[in-house]
Amino acid sequence: MKSITKQKTFDEIKEQLDGLDRVFIVGCGTCATMTKTGGRDEVLGMKDRLQELGKMVTGWTVIPTACDEMTEVALRENNGAINSSNCILVMSCALGVHKISSYIERPVIPALDTLFIGLEDEPGNFHEVCAQCGQCVLGQTAGICPLTACHKGLLNGPCGGTNKGKCEVDITKDCGWTLIYQRLEAQGRLDLMRKYQPPKNYQATPRPRTIKIA
Ligand code: SF4
Ligand code: SF4
Repeated sequence: MKSITKQKTFDEIKEQLDGLDRVFIVGCGTCATMTKTGGRDEVLGMKDRLQELGKMVTGWTVIPTACDEMTEVALRENNGAINSSNCILVMSCALGVHKISSYIERPVIPALDTLFIGLEDEPGNFHEVCAQCGQCVLGQTAGICPLTACHKGLLNGPCGGTNKGKCEVDITKDCGWTLIYQRLEAQGRLDLMRKYQPPKNYQATPRPRTIKIA
């Protein structure tokens, strides 16, 4: 499972760095390296571009996993260069940006947009499998999430636009509900197609969601 990101346009990064001329860059050795958005090569590429722009890059690092507890240690090891900067440019998903913000007082600027949590089905090809809705229905849908596999996120079977197994919104994509039907059929569980799924009540979800593991 990976946090899927894409790099913001350089113009957007430039705009966020307006008035901040000394930059420390942080990359992530896990997801952002895998997606080629914030690994060593991308961090060094960003360093060159910022220097061409006239910014001073006081230092850079690629933290093994920017969202975990070791991040604090990795930042401490770069204390000098971080203290010489007036902002941190983070090339990780938003979880890493949050983690780093929790340790650093100066501005923490994201260089990436976080798109979704995805699985890699073949090298370099990631797809979204879960929208983290908090009320999982995979047990009734043969392990295929209707919120992510169906373009309309329908919970109770296909819309009228499904055509020869393809989706009306994008005919290059398989209809998620056809996939669910086929897999339920193969499992001998087609009766589940008739099971009503109540609408998800997103408004009732208190945010931010938290959990304490005892
Ligand atoms: S129903 Fe879909 S979005 Fe919700 S938890 Fe299950 S896999 Fe995730
Ligand atoms: S065609 Fe299938 S995947 Fe596309 S919106 Fe309708 S039910 Fe969902």
